[in-house]
Amino acid sequence: MNFNKIKSMHFPSDVYIGHDAIFNIAEVVSKFLKSGNILLITGENTYNIAGKRVLANLKDFDVNIIIASKATRESIKNIEESLKNKRPGIVLGVGGGSKIDIAKKIAYDLGIPFISVPTAPSHDGIASPRASIYDGKTVYSEEAVMPSAIVADTSIMVLAPYRYVAAGAADVISNITAVLDWKLANRLKGEDFSSTAAVMSEYAGRELIERSSMIQPGLEESIWLVTKQILASGAAMAIAGSSRPASGSEHLFSHALEIIGPGSSIHGEQCAMGSVISMYLHGGDWGLLRDTYKRIGLSIKAESYGIPRETVIKALSIAHRIRPSRYTILGESDLSYNVSERILSITGII
Ligand SMILES: [Zn+2]
Repeated sequence: MNFNKIKSMHFPSDVYIGHDAIFNIAEVVSKFLKSGNILLITGENTYNIAGKRVLANLKDFDVNIIIASKATRESIKNIEESLKNKRPGIVLGVGGGSKIDIAKKIAYDLGIPFISVPTAPSHDGIASPRASIYDGKTVYSEEAVMPSAIVADTSIMVLAPYRYVAAGAADVISNITAVLDWKLANRLKGEDFSSTAAVMSEYAGRELIERSSMIQPGLEESIWLVTKQILASGAAMAIAGSSRPASGSEHLFSHALEIIGPGSSIHGEQCAMGSVISMYLHGGDWGLLRDTYKRIGLSIKAESYGIPRETVIKALSIAHRIRPSRYTILGESDLSYNVSERILSITGII
C-alpha cells in the first residue's frame, strides 16, 4: 500500500520571551510586514501598561491603534468594518486574553500575520491558533491563526495581577488530564493520537507542578516559568493540529460553567477545578493537583468565586454536552445530580 498520509503544522517562527523582550518588536514587525500599516489591538489598561511601550518601539511605522473591549462577534465585525479603507498588513494583539483573541480573529479573517504581545500569562491562548469569542451569551472556541511571532516581555507581564499568573499555570497543569482524556478517546474511539504532542503537553504541566514553589506573586521568574510552558502547550497543539493535547474534560467543565454561571472565576481557575474532578474520575492522583493549586494560591472552591452549589452540580452533569465530538472521561450521557454532587464534594469543589 502506498504511503499517503499528510499533515500540516503551523508554529510561531519568532519567539522572544524574557526581560525587556519588547525591544525586539520593531525587528519582528519588519520581518512580517510586507505592505500596509500595523493594526494594534489593545485595551484601555493594557495600552497604559504595554501599548505605549510597544508604540515607543514602533516610531518608524504607521500604526493604527484600536482600543477594543470584549471579544464579541459584534466588536470584531465593527473593527473590520472600520478597516475597509485602510487595510492593515499585520495585526498586533497587546493584552491579556480578549485583545489577543480579537487580534487573532481579525488576522484570520483578513489573511494577514498576527503577532502576540501578551501582558499576562493568563491562559494558553497567547500561543495557540484558537480564539475565544463571546456571542453575548456563551463563549465559543473558534479557529483563528497561529501567531507568526510571540513577544512576551516578563518585565511587563509581572505587572499583571498575580491571579492571572496562577490561572495561566493552572491552564497548563490541566494539560495532564487533557492528555488522559485523549488517550482514552484513542483507546475507546480510535481517535488520532500523537505521542509527541501528548508527551510535550503533559511535560509542560508536570514541570509547573514540580516548580510550583517558584510560582509566587511579584516574582518575574514565575512569569518566565509559566510563559515558557504555555509556549510548550502551544507547540503541542501545533503538532497535534488541534487543542486536544491541552483541552479535555476539565475544559468542558470550564465551558459549561461559563455558560451556566462562572461567578467571578476566570478560565484557568475553572480549569483547575475541572482538572481535579477529571483526575479523580480517571483514578489518578487528584490530591497532587489540589495541593499544587493551593501552593500557588489558587482556590478550587466554587464559593471563593461566588458560584452557587447548584450551578456547579449542573455544570458537571452536562459538561459532556459542550462538545460531543470531544470524547472524555465524562462519557456520553448526563451525570445524575447525586453522582455529580458526590464527585464535587469528595474533591472539595463544593
Ligand atoms: Zn485553556
